[in-house]
Amino acid sequence: MLMEKASAGMWRKIDTRYNLIGSECQKCDALYFPPRIICRNCGRDTKMVPKKLSGKGTVYSFTTIRVPSDAFKESAPYNVAVVALEEGPKVEGHVIESGKKVEIGTKVKTVFRKMYVDGEEGLIHYHFKFEAL
Ligand SMILES: [Zn+2]
Repeated sequence: MLMEKASAGMWRKIDTRYNLIGSECQKCDALYFPPRIICRNCGRDTKMVPKKLSGKGTVYSFTTIRVPSDAFKESAPYNVAVVALEEGPKVEGHVIESGKKVEIGTKVKTVFRKMYVDGEEGLIHYHFKFEAL
């Protein structure tokens, strides 16, 4: 019971918009990103805690989007990749080339960038992207 309270407090202290936060099962060490509440291995016995990830990884696969949806039309062409994080989980995200060509095996790290502006209300959405190293 005490563990549950401590864990909920930890989640509130971490700003998940600007950190890459996964969840780790204390029982079997399985690591998830995006975070999961219930461990696939442990089910009801899950003991999940937030785990800050390094944000570093390697491009596992990628594709270049040349004809994007309206929300992303200013960024095209851009790369969307599946990145294998150092800690294991694979995550999909945009990859900024910043002078380096993106290829399978390219090392990347997360950066937090403006993703798109919601037309109606002008609401700016931020999310992580990857930057080629
Ligand atoms: Zn588990």
